Amino acid sequence: MTAMATKTPTVPAATNGAVSRVEHAPASWGLGDGAAIPWDYAPAPESREIVTIKEQYGLFIGGKDVVASDGQTFATVNPATEEPLAQVARGTAADMDKAVRAARSSFRRTWSRLSGKERAKYLFRIARLLQERSREFAVLESMDSGKPIKESRDVDVPLAAAHFWYYAGWADKLDYAFPGRVARPLGVAAQVIPWNFPLLMLAWKIAPALAAGNTVVLKPASTTPLSALLFADVCRQADLPPGVVNIVPGPGEVGMALISNPGVDKVAFTGSTEIGRKIFQGVAGSDKALTLELGGKAANIVFDDAPLDQAVEGIVNGIYFNQGEVCCAGSRLLAQESIVEPLIEKLKDRLSTIRVGDPLDKNTDVGAINSRSQLEKITELVAAGRAEGAEMYQPACDLPERGYFFRPTLFTNVAQSHRIAREEIFGPVLSVLTFRTPEEAVEKANNTPYGLSAGIWTDKGSRILHMVKRMKAGVVWANTFNRFDPTSPFGGYKESGFGREGGMHGLHAYVRLEDR
Ligand code: NDP
Repeated sequence: MTAMATKTPTVPAATNGAVSRVEHAPASWGLGDGAAIPWDYAPAPESREIVTIKEQYGLFIGGKDVVASDGQTFATVNPATEEPLAQVARGTAADMDKAVRAARSSFRRTWSRLSGKERAKYLFRIARLLQERSREFAVLESMDSGKPIKESRDVDVPLAAAHFWYYAGWADKLDYAFPGRVARPLGVAAQVIPWNFPLLMLAWKIAPALAAGNTVVLKPASTTPLSALLFADVCRQADLPPGVVNIVPGPGEVGMALISNPGVDKVAFTGSTEIGRKIFQGVAGSDKALTLELGGKAANIVFDDAPLDQAVEGIVNGIYFNQGEVCCAGSRLLAQESIVEPLIEKLKDRLSTIRVGDPLDKNTDVGAINSRSQLEKITELVAAGRAEGAEMYQPACDLPERGYFFRPTLFTNVAQSHRIAREEIFGPVLSVLTFRTPEEAVEKANNTPYGLSAGIWTDKGSRILHMVKRMKAGVVWANTFNRFDPTSPFGGYKESGFGREGGMHGLHAYVRLEDR
């Protein structure tokens, strides 16, 4: 169903913060030609009963739930309501040291001594438990992060389980992954993850590390620690030997204490380029292995022979999925000049059907922004876009009175020099630029310090191949966007970092290869 917001300026506001729909009655209904019938979806809230949120969570070190060394805690907040969900132990540098020692001891005594087949059994068990408890994880993830339930239910949690299934399969086949070489684990992996895909980033990091025989200490982001702490429960349920996985929430400086701990052999970080630089400096001069997955400013390139309706879905999925809080988001739309007008018209129509609101409502497309500070950053960059002369479009929709919400936003007349075309906004904001020739598209797409992802929409296979070779991006999607699979490597160039996660490449980052 298509709602033509541009033709129906009198759309009544929905009470639940979502967009109301207006359908035009066929003349045969006798309501008068083109009479507008407003309607809306009934709310379809997911029950939060499935998950028990404790009042207080500890650190998970050596298989035990422990308080922070100084007894401090911090609150994690539901971004859709601004209400605290729980108090979480705030790890210290001393706690990180304790966790690294637990991981080291477990590496020496247990995990590195197990056969690949035995390690695989644990990983399969974890994958199965994630599937069995998927609804619980999905509800908790949506409450703690603000992402819509249909996304945590259909994307984050299934993909997290899929990563454990996939790497469980490799655990006893390392000889086949690296033929002619002996793959040895690195030791203790320090892993620092962001808030945009809390459970999925955990799975990207922990599954390959464990499959290859490493033990880990993971620091979740301070705004989204709960799914990692629920994962600690899964580790216990799976009878994972104590110390193989340690989870220590805490502020950024505690993340730094973790990565600079001398007991760490490998550092894996996902987050902003700014912090990535600091981590790089923190690791420099040591023999720690390092992978960095940082920011992006991806170009989504639409040629004039692309199927426009399909491209519109890909553009929407590329930038409004997860509120645009995605490192590989297609935040720059490059549209060929000859089709820019119909494309923008279709895009605006489609935007008017996007539902912004309660993350736990199964009809919600765009949930809450993860934190107040992220909302402020988006608001500031959108103001800069207007001030610099770009033209802003936002669909008519009421936002909930409380919570960190932002309307899906589209900017046209964007110049490459505008901040909204250069900086990672990490929000539901699309900047539209145009091009005339494939060469100009390549030039503009690569005109960014980042190099994480890109998208190409065209009917011609030869053009896809021509463009893919010229994109300075780690991942290039053709006639789709934001598709992830555990078998497929993911990572960037330039300021988007280095190293690959996913697939056999992801396994490579957690092993030392020796001659036979
Ligand atoms: P950060 O890069 O600061 O956070 C990512 C992780 O690093 C978090 O666990 C954070 O902990 C931790 N961290 C923060 N400072 C340090 C440090 N000095 N040493 C070690 N670890 C540290 O991202 P933000 O949350 O601040 O987001 C800021 C911007 O970064 C966003 O607006 C967005 O543009 C970008 N971003 C990009 C991501 C990506 O995947 N490319 C992911 C997240 C953000 P804590 O949560 O306690 O601060």
